[in-house]
Amino acid sequence: MAGSEKAGDRSIRRVLIVGGGSAGWMTAAALAHALPRGCAISLIESEEIGTVGVGEATIPPIKLFNDTLGIAEDEFMKATKGSFKLGIEFVDWAKIGHRYFHPFGEYGKPFDLVPVHQHWLAARAAGCSVPLDDLAMAWGAASRDRFAKPLADPRSIGSTFSYAYHFDAGLYAKFLRSYAEARGVVRHEGKVASTAIDGASGHVTSVTLDDGRVLEGDLFIDCSGFRGLLIEGALKTGYDEWTRWLPCDRAVAVPCEHGAGFTPYTRSTAREAGWQWRIPLQHRVGNGYVYSSAHLGDQEAADTLLANLDGKPLADPRGLRFVTGRRKLFWNANVIAIGLSSGFIEPLESTSLHLIQAGISKLLAFFPTLDFDPAVRDEYNRVAITEVERIRDFVILHYKLTQRDDSALWRDCAAMDIPDTLAWKIGHFRRDGKLLSRDMDLFGSPSWLAVHVGQFNLPERLDPLLDYGDGAAKSRTFVEQLAAAVARAAETMPTHADYIAHHCAA
Ligand code: FAD
Repeated sequence: MAGSEKAGDRSIRRVLIVGGGSAGWMTAAALAHALPRGCAISLIESEEIGTVGVGEATIPPIKLFNDTLGIAEDEFMKATKGSFKLGIEFVDWAKIGHRYFHPFGEYGKPFDLVPVHQHWLAARAAGCSVPLDDLAMAWGAASRDRFAKPLADPRSIGSTFSYAYHFDAGLYAKFLRSYAEARGVVRHEGKVASTAIDGASGHVTSVTLDDGRVLEGDLFIDCSGFRGLLIEGALKTGYDEWTRWLPCDRAVAVPCEHGAGFTPYTRSTAREAGWQWRIPLQHRVGNGYVYSSAHLGDQEAADTLLANLDGKPLADPRGLRFVTGRRKLFWNANVIAIGLSSGFIEPLESTSLHLIQAGISKLLAFFPTLDFDPAVRDEYNRVAITEVERIRDFVILHYKLTQRDDSALWRDCAAMDIPDTLAWKIGHFRRDGKLLSRDMDLFGSPSWLAVHVGQFNLPERLDPLLDYGDGAAKSRTFVEQLAAAVARAAETMPTHADYIAHHCAA
């Protein structure tokens, strides 16, 4: 007898996912894996509406998502024409002509109680010119266009980095769709025309498609993209805007042919009214200009993008509009918003796909029953909101710390008020180089360090503990030896192109 037929069964037996972009198919794949029996999982998507079609750079936790689902890396990379990502290079962000790297992984290896970066600061104060970037294994490899997997031996400098992927967003959704359908997820093609809500509970009971089909569910996952069909359209949850801190609200995207250099990293180049991404895949390079419509026209943005490509464009530029912020609740009644329907932080640190993954993890951690206990829902929302606001702060940091004054956008950003949670972090680092973290920071100390130093938020004094150590000369020797070890280890790696050719060429 199926569980739903048992008297008193309060288990969720029908999950309906609305939307089949990356969010919809990641959720479908994960639920199919986690709930192998006893729950009917369906997904509605509309080919006519299509998906947002971008979202091609990721951060290291995505590996965990794939590993949990039992997805083999090489197979995944072939299917999505993917490449490897060791971090993000930021060009012209602090000031024109300056670049720095946000590496995945650590800076060197700790050798005493004082953090490595404090030794670097002490060495720098003593005249050492080794850039902080050179202490990160990820940059050692990235700057040489090299890639290999991190070594397992924790004593080796080759173990101190991590990596993520770049992939084709369309192929990614297709790959996950076959994974999910093979595990029983049922896909419905069609457009949702209306939503029925139970008057007493305020819960969504069904959606009706434009051809008249009615699809019911116990739990609804809204993956309908910026529209937020259920969370906003039906439930009117409300939205907190963050445009005052993150002014970019448009993007124009275009793929192009490869030019020189198959880099194992994303590049972000600050431009007059925003920034341009460059994401190398096996078969093309993805590019886009994220900009503020208050500071730049659409045509100028497209022209700037087209003038700054590695090779011939492979399509016409495509415009996208968004409002940075978050839904007031991520889980409302029996609807959980995952993906763009839950909000959007512009893609500077490639965090949206991660937030989908984080949403799915929380959904499983707080999986409801038909009772929809408000305490469970509230905790989900508390964690989700904290998580996304910490990421928001990290992205604002890049804008706030600019020293550019060549255009209105950058002058406005340098002068803007920022959230207290971020001011607290900037202040502590500026005082004596302390990297503080409070509640659920996705980005760890090395990431914050990269941006503070990369954008010249340098401490006014060194860590007091250094006063009790072996002195600046010792710090300098350590830093120079570390940079040399990173360089040596990087030289032993194959090139990114060779690594892909041998392991996962499409
Ligand atoms: P969508 O892709 O928009 O999918 C929505 C789905 O809902 C579609 O299947 C659509 O057909 C369906 N739908 C909508 N309305 C209806 C209806 N009425 N009936 C039936 N179906 C419907 N993220 C990253 O992690 N890294 C990046 O580098 C990155 N870059 C980005 C760059 C830009 C400019 C933008 C805007 C976003 C970027 N993102 C990035 C975010 C990333 O693209 C999204 O998080 C991801 O693609 C998930 O989108 P989604 O599935 O929520 O929405």
